[in-house]
Amino acid sequence: MKYVRFIYNGVERYGSMGKNSIKIADGSPFDNTFKLTGEEIPSSEAVLLAPTPFSKAVCIGLNYRDHAEEFGLPVPDAPVVFLKPSTSATGPETSIIYPEMCHRLDYEAELAVVIGKKARHVKEEDALDYVLGYTIANDVTARDLQPKNGQWTIAKGFDTFMPLGPFISDEVDASSLMITSRVNGETKQMSNTSNLIFTIPYLISYISNVMTLLPGDIISTGTPGGISGMKKGDTVEIEIEGLGILRNTIG
Ligand code: MG
Repeated sequence: MKYVRFIYNGVERYGSMGKNSIKIADGSPFDNTFKLTGEEIPSSEAVLLAPTPFSKAVCIGLNYRDHAEEFGLPVPDAPVVFLKPSTSATGPETSIIYPEMCHRLDYEAELAVVIGKKARHVKEEDALDYVLGYTIANDVTARDLQPKNGQWTIAKGFDTFMPLGPFISDEVDASSLMITSRVNGETKQMSNTSNLIFTIPYLISYISNVMTLLPGDIISTGTPGGISGMKKGDTVEIEIEGLGILRNTIG
């Protein structure tokens, strides 16, 4: 299933994405009420939203060796964890707002794990039972503000700094997926999720031993090397094998 959340005829709905169409569902995939209605619409008639209205985005820093190296930082021996607020979410095909107080705005291509059921004290071997599926995240960062704060909340917490989508898929094996980012068509990052330092089951177990993960919450697993800045008018695309393309413009 490729779960989408969208606006159709002014109403927010969930559904299942096909090639050029969306099958409409009643209910939500986050509370076991999701049920296809039989109604199908052309994708062009729907406005896609971030596929999950998450309560928290738990993000992992420095989880690819080459990204730690480009900052001249050692590979961490425990996950570097920070949160992005729910208000940072935005959907595919929207604009990321370039904040006035920022002078260097970066993309970060990331695989996001979407939690499907309440997870607390989960063992690593059971962790994937708590996953609804996977989607693409762009961990947008005001890079110049990052070192000015002891914490990363300001640099990464602006509204629109967490584009997500276009859909959540439960059809991929997330342990080995190509991940690529492009700005105005030029490739900037290219790696594979098999290069993650801390694996997805490890992260779910580690985080759920700290905080309860709720249905719809996401874990954004970190970005590979190759970060750089964007400017107003740019188009940023993140592509992950089997998960489509997350495309946004900078406004
Ligand atoms: Mg990141």
